Amino acid sequence: MLLPGGFPGLGIGVLMRTLAGIPVGSGVVVGRVFVIDEGQPLRAPRREIPPENAPAELERFELARRAAIEELNRLHQTAATEMGDEAAKIFLFHMGALSDRAILNPIRRAIEQDHLGAEFAAVQSIRAIADKFANHPDTTFRSKVSDLHDLGSRLLRHLTGRRPRTMAHLDEHTVIVARDLTPSQTAAFDRSKIVAFATDLGGLTSHTAIVARALGLPAVVGLQDLTRYARDGQTIVVDAERGSVVLDPDQPTLEDAERAGERSRRSWITLHEDVAKPAVTLDGVPIALMGNIEFPDEVESVIHEGGTGVGLYRTEFLYLTSDHEPTEDEHTSAYIDCVKRLKGRPLTIRTVDLGADKYTQGRSETPERNPFLGLRSIRYCLQNTEMFRRQLRSILRASAHGPVKVMFPLVTNIAEFRRAKYYLHEAMEDLDEMGVPYDKDIKTGMMVEVPAAALQAASFAREVDFFSIGTNDLVQYTLAVDRINERVAGLYTPIHPAVLKLIRDVARVGQRADLEVSCCGESAAEPEFAALLIGLGVRTLSVTASSLPRLKRAVRGLDTKRCERIAQKAIRFDSEADAAAYVRDRVRKLVPEVFDGRTAEEP
Ligand code: PEP
Ligand code: MG
Repeated sequence: MLLPGGFPGLGIGVLMRTLAGIPVGSGVVVGRVFVIDEGQPLRAPRREIPPENAPAELERFELARRAAIEELNRLHQTAATEMGDEAAKIFLFHMGALSDRAILNPIRRAIEQDHLGAEFAAVQSIRAIADKFANHPDTTFRSKVSDLHDLGSRLLRHLTGRRPRTMAHLDEHTVIVARDLTPSQTAAFDRSKIVAFATDLGGLTSHTAIVARALGLPAVVGLQDLTRYARDGQTIVVDAERGSVVLDPDQPTLEDAERAGERSRRSWITLHEDVAKPAVTLDGVPIALMGNIEFPDEVESVIHEGGTGVGLYRTEFLYLTSDHEPTEDEHTSAYIDCVKRLKGRPLTIRTVDLGADKYTQGRSETPERNPFLGLRSIRYCLQNTEMFRRQLRSILRASAHGPVKVMFPLVTNIAEFRRAKYYLHEAMEDLDEMGVPYDKDIKTGMMVEVPAAALQAASFAREVDFFSIGTNDLVQYTLAVDRINERVAGLYTPIHPAVLKLIRDVARVGQRADLEVSCCGESAAEPEFAALLIGLGVRTLSVTASSLPRLKRAVRGLDTKRCERIAQKAIRFDSEADAAAYVRDRVRKLVPEVFDGRTAEEP
């Protein structure tokens, strides 16, 4: 949404600064900067107090603690309304911690006995607890380190009387600017005030980007040093079409942004006219369009945006927003919640994909040197089999309530898939013993997101019921480009002949073995890449809900034979840049309406 007429009197254009990053979602917005700096390390100067001031200092701490609890309570309620109970749970942990004597007593002792100022006492004590948590053998403790830091910053803000950085104080048309966003920060967003966000870190498939898309907000990530220049209240243009932000834009830039914003707003309206229409190509080939979700509440958006089911449920978000390791009942109720909301539409539940970008190093057994090549996804589950079996039983329980499939992430060799299936059968036996009903023919598939799995697809095809290609990781592992490292983001491209060859092979194997092959990577939402996927034989695409209308419009304007020809040519290019330019040019001509009226020449 655009601010009509810009911001007169705000010194527009005085020191215009443009930064390039990675676009997420679509649209161009103008807003005011709100910098979130809670990711900064916890610091407070050491201050000693006269012993007789200790009671007053304790009182000051108590007031700050209560104010923080009240603030968290408000945040919890708003987040529950905005993003659902699951996402809001993160605040309950923070509230609990502020009433926990194990956390409060050391702070009170530091004030009363060591005569330290409340700020230093709080920071020192919370840091000590966070360090202990970081080295704790139990993952539940390790997973709370960043939350403790968040909590420390919140207390500090209340003690120092700094303006609380919460959405309650946001102006209309706020653009959130941050180094990166933690799950607790993103869960606190007030969608009615926030129009976009922009971060220094992150790539197309980082947590921030995934949440931005789930909220339907435009964003630019990987801007590297935006927080160095951005100040609260500054005018900012966030251009998620070009992947840039402009601080203090001059009048022509502002007018250009307004026109682009208007264009994308009009195209949003026309795209939504097709939401209820079938996703069928011009030559009559149906393409199943499904949604990717992180929380059960997102099912509604998937259906609303025209999705016919959920192709990827990222269940690890249950862990990332919970104050404890989710119990079997919690897993089960989240899954049944999804099944019920889907009312008979299919649901593919992926077993937890913790590790690497979704599992900070503070949480891992020992910090890994190459987390993306380390103990993540199915590897993690196969080393934590009690947790894995709990989840599998929950998935099976949910399968009694509607069509559910189970999918294993990051399978690299056949033994992993067999072991995962072994635990699934054990979980079935557990339920049989308890007399709990479940779908005995539950379809079991795997993500194809490492080159080894794609190259071995024919072997896997003898044992799996379906493949889902995860291009977010497949691109990273094929091209050796970290998916969340903004410094190499320019090398991260799904339209690379090497990636396309792998996808072609998997799709061929799937066709021969009569197995469903879907793609659930974020790139599937891009019309150019979707055309290639269709041309390579993929017939199911699963993307974030907010991307569905544009994708459907693209599908309805494409023809499979043409897509095949485009894909065959793209795969033969020596250079990925040439392949991408060719595909962009062809697809923009075929479905110009999904490119917001921008011509192929425009960036
Ligand atoms: C992928 O890797 O493409 C994928 C869908 O999984 P995630 O983004 O959750 O790693
Ligand atoms: Mg993946």
